[in-house]
This record gives sequence, structure tokens and C-alpha cells, in this order.
Amino acid sequence: KREEEAIQLDGLNVAQLKEIREKAEKFTFQTEVNRMMKLIINSLYRNKEIFLRELISNASDAIDKIRLLALSNSKQLESNPELHIRIKADKENKALHIMDSGIGMTHQDLINNLGTIAKSGTADFLAKMQDPSKSEGQDMNDMIGQFGVGFYSAFLVADRVVVTTKHNDDKQYIWESDANSFSITEDPRGDTLKRGSVISLYLKEEAQDFLEEDTVRELIRKYSQFINFPIRMWSSKT
Ligand code: ADP
Ligand code: MG
Repeated sequence: KREEEAIQLDGLNVAQLKEIREKAEKFTFQTEVNRMMKLIINSLYRNKEIFLRELISNASDAIDKIRLLALSNSKQLESNPELHIRIKADKENKALHIMDSGIGMTHQDLINNLGTIAKSGTADFLAKMQDPSKSEGQDMNDMIGQFGVGFYSAFLVADRVVVTTKHNDDKQYIWESDANSFSITEDPRGDTLKRGSVISLYLKEEAQDFLEEDTVRELIRKYSQFINFPIRMWSSKT
């Protein structure tokens, strides 16, 4: 089991990523996504650490979704009966990996969910942030707490984000982005995840502190209070 997890959390190195990118199908972000990313990066640079809250909450949502599906069709869980979240600080690749055994994303989900803003909550946030009369006097932390800024907050700490994902109805894919455009390709390693996702953050120079297990553990403690699934730090020891 540990060996399996080790494989699932084994990050791609720079050369492998380059090769994958060259073969991949390229996409551009919806205009609203570009606006959202700029806004997040410009307004939340003092609250960088919230990326982990957002990614843990997405991981938890993804596990909720597969659990819900399994209520009407228990076979859905067979691909990976374990429901959990794992986080690995990968110093070798200067990356932080957040793994969940949730529902995963199909090829179409990747385009829809990580290339466009479908959610009205995010659109509301965007509108409010850009209208000073509405956000006046409101603490930025309140705003963030109220809306949640979502997946793109990953780019607060990462200059490249790689999502490896396996949904029951599709193959395993790699989505990767430098925040300017994104690409999707079938994973040459095959279906290593069985089901679920790994969000890999290739950390910016100034965000290398998130490779320290103590820092990450502290943040997990802070943000995992309302998460119903076990979250464990994966360490190569023990
Ligand atoms: P929200 O969580 O408010 O919907 P996000 O920006 O956080 O918005 O995420 C966008 C979408 O991307 C989610 O609604 C979900 O469909 C998809 N997604 C993000 N992370 C994961 C994940 N770990 N597993 C499956 N789907 C995910
Ligand atoms: Mg979210």
C-alpha cells in the first residue's frame, strides 16, 4: 500500500514535464479565468497560504462526490475503496503534491472545470472585488472566507501547476499550466491513481518554505478542522 502511494505521489521532474508538454493538446483559458487569476495574484500576495485551504476543500469535495455516487452504485468505489487525502513535500522536484482519492476528472471535466469559470460564487467574488464601493471597509480575509477563491489560488505559490487525474469513466490525464495557457495529455505512466487526483505545485522561488514539513503540518492543522476525511502528510521515512 505504501509502495502504491509512493508511486502515486512521485512527482514529474522538469525534463519529464517538458516532454509531456510538447506532446500535449494546448488550450487557452476563458477570459474570466485570466481576470480571476490576475486578481487573485494581485490581491492575495499577503495571504498566499490560503491556497492550501482551497486545495484541501476541493479534495474533500471530490471525495464527497464519489461517496454520493457510491450510494446509488457501490461499484463506483471499487476502483479505490480508500477515501483519504495525502500531502507530500517533494524537495527533489521543489513541489508540493496534494492527493485525493475522490471522483477525479474526465478529459471534458478538465476543460470545463479548470479552464472556465462555471461557478457563480467565483463570478460574484470577481464582481465584488472589482467594485470598490461594494468591498469598501470589508476585510480582505472576510471576503476570501466568504467566497473562497478556489483552484487558481494555486498560482499564488506555484509558477507551474500539474493536475494528474483519473475518473472511473475515462483514462488518466495530465493537465498542466503556467497560468498563461494550459495543456492536457493522456498520462504516459498509465492509470497509476486508480481513481482521484494529484495537484502538484511547482513552487516559486519565494514559496519554498512550503516544502518544509513543519510549515505544511501547521497549515493542515489550521485548515482541516472541518474536513471529514483523514489528511496525512506523506513522508518517505517510516
Ligand atoms: P469550486 O470548488 O468553488 O467549485 P474551484 O475553483 O475550487 O471552485 O474548483 C473548480 C472545479 O474544479 C471544482 O468545482 C471541481 O469540479 C474541479 N476540481 C478542482 N479540484 C478537484 C479535485 N481535486 N478533484 C476533482 N475535481 C476538482
Ligand atoms: Mg473549491
